[in-house]
Amino acid sequence: MSGNTFEVTNPANGEVITAVADCGPKETEQAIEAASQAFLPWRKKTAKERAAIMHRWFYLINENIDDLALLMTTEQGKPLKEAKGEIVYGASFIEWFAEEARRIYGDVIPAPTNDRKIITLKQPIGVVAAITPWNFPVSMITRKISPAIAAGCTVVLKPAAQTPLSALALAYLAKEAGFPDGVINIVTSSKASEIGKVMTESALVQKFSFTGSTKVGKMLMQQCAATVKKVSLELGGNAPLIVFDDAEIEQAVKGAIASKYRNAGQTCVCANRLYVQDGIYDAFMEKYRKAVAALTVGDGTVADIEIGPLIDEEAVKKINRLMGDATHKGATVTVGGKPHAAGSLFYEPTVLEGCNSEMAVSKEEVFGPVSPIFRFSTETEAIQLANDTEYGLASYFFTQNLARTWRVAEALDYGIVGINEGIVSTAEAPFGGMKESGIGREGSKYGIEEYLEIKYLCVGGLG
Ligand code: NAP
Repeated sequence: MSGNTFEVTNPANGEVITAVADCGPKETEQAIEAASQAFLPWRKKTAKERAAIMHRWFYLINENIDDLALLMTTEQGKPLKEAKGEIVYGASFIEWFAEEARRIYGDVIPAPTNDRKIITLKQPIGVVAAITPWNFPVSMITRKISPAIAAGCTVVLKPAAQTPLSALALAYLAKEAGFPDGVINIVTSSKASEIGKVMTESALVQKFSFTGSTKVGKMLMQQCAATVKKVSLELGGNAPLIVFDDAEIEQAVKGAIASKYRNAGQTCVCANRLYVQDGIYDAFMEKYRKAVAALTVGDGTVADIEIGPLIDEEAVKKINRLMGDATHKGATVTVGGKPHAAGSLFYEPTVLEGCNSEMAVSKEEVFGPVSPIFRFSTETEAIQLANDTEYGLASYFFTQNLARTWRVAEALDYGIVGINEGIVSTAEAPFGGMKESGIGREGSKYGIEEYLEIKYLCVGGLG
């Protein structure tokens, strides 16, 4: 180890929490080598043996939930209640994939002639390298590591530089749970591009999994081309949330608040554009404005705080830019609209009405507590506006009409559609995007497939 370190700070007050190892290319190569050495013995364990260790990890995380939540809030900023919710959600992937490990089935396929048998085996792909973002410091990690290790792969993961402590705590508990050395390797670093280069170019790495921005994801995908790695990408979103005239208003307000303001608006599935139909506009907006204005802002460790700080100064600058662009082009601030008195990284929960497709808020991820509101007249118009983006991760709509539910659900070009529901993520369901929001799915019975190869055995000479 080089002995170099970098500091981790608390976004609520700017204080330095601690410093962690600043790994470089050399340490990354060592971690990949360790994962490669650990692969065969780990793969040879039975699925039941792998699952038993995973279950122990799951229990240890739940037993330590209070400490893990405090750690997460301190390095990431989200309110303690949300941090606990994320840890429960993150741990649920470990439990789910421990169960799925024992259900990795092959096939016996009817052959075209009687003298042969066609059999498929599913086998772990090999060493997995992964990179994750800061907005979900635990669950973005477990959503990748759990299916990989359940399948029999070993992993080298780089967490975001802003939130390495949750990753290290997970790794500590994994060691306690009994994972052999080399199965799970965490590389903390402030030199993301150097680490990414080693991971994507290494011939020892068979699979690369990334969650983060579309810009970085595209670059890493290109880097993977030279060694033809299997790639999974969970990238950015630009989620539309449509409130139709026939929506149940309370349900729509609750769903929109939950989708928009979780994690101070810093999630890839946050409602980014709220489309509200003419007939319900006044009634919905009256309640929505009140609900947004009532959100409490402050340090996430304080009880009853609902909106914590943004992650860094860049995030505040981006919101200021988007707000400036929108108001310059005619949008009106009806709630909030400026930095919050709680500190330099806090922003007021905001409602921005009169938005249109010319504004940057219609095209870019806001990633902050701002609701851009767009008014529309017809269902056809809403679908056209909702699909008018290169992203295709999450979408939401609210209606009580069954025929419309099916029509709109089928017409939206998104990997995830929340219907009368603003929070949709769960280990049992496939999470992932269409178009430039990504490749592959995480969670559900499909998630483990990303870490498996299908091998075809042709048994001949049987006639
Ligand atoms: P980001 O800049 O792409 O960073 C994500 C991760 O990539 C971090 O670990 C970062 O390291 C690393 N990274 C940055 N540049 C790199 C490079 N050149 N080579 C290798 N690694 C590099 O994304 P972000 O802005 O922090 O995260 C928010 C984005 O993630 C949003 O777009 C959001 O929508 C997306 N997201 C998507 C999902 C999903 O499931 N689809 C889930 C959560 C978030 P450093 O921390 O050192 O910069």
